[in-house]
Formats: sequence, C-alpha cells, structure tokens
Amino acid sequence: MRVIGLTGGIGSGKSEVSNILRSLGVPIVDADELTHAAQARGEPVWREIWQRFGWSVLGPNGEIHRRKLGYLVFHDSQKRQLLNQLVHPRVRAMMAEQLEVLRQQGVLAAVLDVPLLIEGGLHTMVDEVWVVYADPALQEKRVTERDHLDASEAGRRIRAQMPLDQKLQHAHFVIDNRGSLNALKDEVTRLWQNAKKRAELVDG
Ligand code: ADP
Repeated sequence: MRVIGLTGGIGSGKSEVSNILRSLGVPIVDADELTHAAQARGEPVWREIWQRFGWSVLGPNGEIHRRKLGYLVFHDSQKRQLLNQLVHPRVRAMMAEQLEVLRQQGVLAAVLDVPLLIEGGLHTMVDEVWVVYADPALQEKRVTERDHLDASEAGRRIRAQMPLDQKLQHAHFVIDNRGSLNALKDEVTRLWQNAKKRAELVDG
C-alpha cells in the first residue's frame, strides 16, 4: 500500500485539501482525530495526563479540558515535552493500526494527514510527501479570517511553526494553494489520480 503523508503550515489549506480528498473517497488516517481519541476519558493517556498534570486539567465532565492543558503547556516547554511523550507514542501506534487495517482491506493508497509530519520525523516513513503551500501573507490573511485573530497574533502563530519554505524541501509534491478553492479541487483530484497510478505500478 502506498502511504502519502499530507502536511502544510497553519492557514496553508491542509484542512481544505483533506476535505477534498474525503469527498473523493480517499482513505485518510487523521492525526488530529487520533490525538483526540487517545485523550478521551477512560483511555490510558487520559489517565496519565491528569496523574502528571493534576486534576485542574479536567473539565466538569471529567474530559481533558483542552484549553487549560493547552495554556499549561504553551507556557512551559518542559511540560509541553512531557505531554508529547505521553501522547505521541500512542497516536503513532494508532496510526500504524489504522494503516494496517487499510492494508489488510487491500487498499492501494492512503493518506496520512499529519500537521507536524516533518517536525515529528514521520516524513521519512511515508512513500511520498505532499505539502500544501500558500505564501506567508496569504497564510496570515486566511488565519486572521478563519480564527478571528488580529494580524499580529496570526503572524505570531505562523512564525512559531517551522517555516513552510523549509517543509517544501521535503515535499515530493507541492500543492499550490494560492488560487481559488475550485483550482485547489482540480489540482488535488489530479494529484490523487496520479498517486493511484503510481500505487498500481508498484503494487498492482
Ligand atoms: P490549515 O488546515 O492548513 O490550517 P485551512 O484549510 O483551514 O488551513 O484554510 C485556512 C482558511 O482559509 C479556511 O477558512 C479555508 O476555508 C480558507 N481557504 C483555504 N484555501 C482557500 C482558497 N484556495 N481560497 C479561499 N479560501 C481558502
């Protein structure tokens, strides 16, 4: 099975690309979804989080209170590292399990949707890397509008990430999202059709 790693930078349009791929019926393993699932109430990671960070990170219903936890780790890099140590191994295991299920089902190609694909080193474990690109000014404009932030806060969040230009160096395919959503749809559809052909050449 050919595994495609999909990534981008905040506001580059990765979620839109995921939506397009879903509408095409592409099998997707979604890192954000798995991160939420790993931390759900009653899961081992959920227990480890409140045992290490204290009851205050739980909301009234016993679920992890994502904003409180986010605030804690945002201001303390050691805590951020600890949280990653608790969460990442489980999420990686869940990704591997889901990919294995797809493989067993005879799926020829699947997409691994991971915001931090390159930062986490997962780009070396996939068959091809797709990076969704928009220039920084466009990223800032889209984040400002989507998240109702002012431009300086949007810019701060963009600059806190690995620069997209750096991610492009690891890309086998760059999805240029500086145009319209219709243009993006055409580009992603074409890219997926070609990826399926590559998968057939290798596995078929
Ligand atoms: P990411 O997941 O990379 O952070 P999103 O896919 O959420 O980015 O895109 C950021 C915002 O910009 C969203 O509101 C999205 O609808 C909008 N957007 C993305 N691509 C385009 C485009 N080509 N044209 C217009 N708006 C876009």
